[in-house]
Amino acid sequence: MSEKRKLELYIHIPFCVRKCRYCDFLSAPADETTRRAYVNQLIEEIRAQATVYPDYQISTIFVGGGTPSSLTGQQILNILSAVYESFAVDSDAEITIECNPGTLDTEKLEYFREAGINRVSLGVQSADNEELQLLGRIHTYEDFLQSYQMLREAGFRNINVDLMSAIPHQTVESWRNTLRKVLMLKPEHISAYSLILEPGTPFYEEYSTKEGQAALPDEDTDREMYALTKALLSQHGYHRYEISNYARPGFECRHNIGYWTGAEYLGVGLGASSMMVNHRFHSETDLQKYLEVRMHEDLTPLFQDVEALSLEDRMEEFMYLGLRMTEGVSGSDFMHAFGFNMFDVFAGPIRKNTVLKLLETKLPTVRLTDKGTDLANRVFADFYHCLRRTGGNRS
Ligand code: SF4
Repeated sequence: MSEKRKLELYIHIPFCVRKCRYCDFLSAPADETTRRAYVNQLIEEIRAQATVYPDYQISTIFVGGGTPSSLTGQQILNILSAVYESFAVDSDAEITIECNPGTLDTEKLEYFREAGINRVSLGVQSADNEELQLLGRIHTYEDFLQSYQMLREAGFRNINVDLMSAIPHQTVESWRNTLRKVLMLKPEHISAYSLILEPGTPFYEEYSTKEGQAALPDEDTDREMYALTKALLSQHGYHRYEISNYARPGFECRHNIGYWTGAEYLGVGLGASSMMVNHRFHSETDLQKYLEVRMHEDLTPLFQDVEALSLEDRMEEFMYLGLRMTEGVSGSDFMHAFGFNMFDVFAGPIRKNTVLKLLETKLPTVRLTDKGTDLANRVFADFYHCLRRTGGNRS
């Protein structure tokens, strides 16, 4: 019997109680009827996708959003039950759900456990209530504490806490305070991202102007916050395994590691992205149109912007996603994946960034230096489309 291929499944829930002021994710508030119709359609899609990919076995599931915990516990159980009925799933699969404080109760958590969820990602962003209010979050820090406690009491032993730095008017001291408060709770995993002003959001309108920018921490303060994050978290036993992600040993997020190391992933639900059989595509992004697709007849109207990835595209992606990991990219893994010597194919960008002290090589691996981590986007840009420009050297 042939072995099944590994698959990571992402399930998108596009609903939130209220839109945060900085957010450009595909998410919005919706009434109960819409949420019910969406869940039914999502279940139809899961069943239909399983018939398209029968040779795969799921190793991780990530229920993301939006705010998946804005659905009822029964709805989450129904969605995951559809996955288990339709796909082969590893017995030790990592099954994560994103939750927001203010949307959890003990009964809902019982459903989550019944649904096999073994990892929870809880978004708090800040321990400062004024910052939370400015961000437009629906909760206070005290609400977060209550949700965190509820999760522990319900038996969840793998919790991620999402944090955000570089919030308008934030100081290094208030960021330190947020980190300290969260560290006291000893979550297994912490994600710490800087705020990005996304066009089309109220934050972009307010803070991308010259006057607005004065309210944002400057570049040096932003770097200081990053350095503080790394130092404080490391003192408390967390290691940085990706630019913005820290974990206690053994609690690195398997789903995200798969994404950064070139695993195939299938996204189901509104606008969800996929990378399957060397093709990248995403699902319909209009909710009304998504709800009208006849999943049991023809899935093709669902797939948008299908892009066949060339060998060059895949090799470049392997580099700029892989370099996000602190352990870097291994030349042996590259050879195994593509049959070429990574140091020949990317001789130019590796040499240039090594001279600039942004990359370092410890054979067979190349990885970002501390300076390179601060300037990661600059390094990634050198790998992005570089083979299209130069053809690379594959001798
Ligand atoms: S809860 Fe998350 S997805 Fe929803 S609006 Fe806020 S940031 Fe966006």
